[in-house]
Amino acid sequence: MMEDALALFVEDARAVSIEDAAKRLGLRFSGSRYEHPQPCPHCGGTDTFAFNTAKNKWNCRAGGVGGNDGIGMAAHCEGLDLHRRAHFLEACSIVLDRSVPDEAEQESAEERNRRLRRIEQRRRANEMQAAGKSGTQLEFRERERQRARAIYDAAAPVGRYGRPVADYLAARGCGEIGSSRWLRYASNLAYWHGQDERGRPVALHAGPAMIAPFIDRSLTAIGCHITWLDLACAPKFRPQLFDPASGELLPSKKMRGSKKGGLIPLFGDPSARRWVGGEGIENGAAFACWENWRPDTFYFAAGDLGNLAGPADAASRFAHPTLKKPDAKGVPRPVMVAGPVPRTDPGDEDAIWVGDHVEELVLLADADSERVMTAAAMARARARHARPGRAIPIVWPRPGCDFAAMAAQAARVA
Ligand SMILES: [Zn+2]
Repeated sequence: MMEDALALFVEDARAVSIEDAAKRLGLRFSGSRYEHPQPCPHCGGTDTFAFNTAKNKWNCRAGGVGGNDGIGMAAHCEGLDLHRRAHFLEACSIVLDRSVPDEAEQESAEERNRRLRRIEQRRRANEMQAAGKSGTQLEFRERERQRARAIYDAAAPVGRYGRPVADYLAARGCGEIGSSRWLRYASNLAYWHGQDERGRPVALHAGPAMIAPFIDRSLTAIGCHITWLDLACAPKFRPQLFDPASGELLPSKKMRGSKKGGLIPLFGDPSARRWVGGEGIENGAAFACWENWRPDTFYFAAGDLGNLAGPADAASRFAHPTLKKPDAKGVPRPVMVAGPVPRTDPGDEDAIWVGDHVEELVLLADADSERVMTAAAMARARARHARPGRAIPIVWPRPGCDFAAMAAQAARVA
């Protein structure tokens, strides 16, 4: 009878997942989705130990051990020797949070209490550390948001003073915008890149820039999007900035503050029932011009494809039909593409918000990006933003083009 109870006890312990075992061991969940690196409770070090709740695996680089069962992980963390029966049962007892049915062969009650106290201390230390970390992350985010707001607030409205912004958009095929409630102009904004020998940030460039806000559902600016302008520099009319050390071409656009969950308003009012937007500002603005800035429409940009479409369900990932990339051994492998199915538990902040009142959401695809990846992302965006009674057409420009380039071409021909 005792043997049956013990066999059942061990079977139950073997069935405990790495995730549950980690909780009972008081291990730290770092907040990233599946992988949780940390110092090994037994060997010490920093990030020597990790467990993965998706792969159901753990390993310790310091101890050179690992595996896929909670019993083994508990034994390593608590310094138990699995070859000794009493220790093995103790490890089972830890992952089950139940005492061993056979009292005879256990560690002494005192030892067990000591271990329970140790686990409790570990749990509390991890909680305190996690709380402190999220505190500083929140402060950092708030500081960045304030800086972004300050840049936007200091910039001039496009109507009267922001001529270079209107000229830039006209040059990019976005027509004569006149004024914009949202877009602004900074005459001499610094482009910070790298640090000097004393660790201070270096202004690599300063010049005219178009400033757009990222707004949340309450229309509050949570970030800003900056495009540096150089009207003498065709065809993109943006300055060519190079990293002084590597000579690498740097992006002439930057985002400050928060982007996630926000969107860049371009023209019109978000209370409109028809919304039109895609990845970039120029594309949305070119399409708005082509439609002659429909008064019933709100035009926007997401800033990037990820913010337009949101994260993909991992199971919908697929191999690109033609693109290949060498793996670590130099063997060409198909490039994996984020799939068309949105993650089932989407967070509010992992893609643009769309007003509940929106009945038509026109999504603009970007055909100068990789076609398969873009198509999957557009399908994902449509699925994510779908609501009963809402139409979500996807509009594609000519292959290899975007709407801004098409409009600019058409203007040249005319
Ligand atoms: Zn270890």
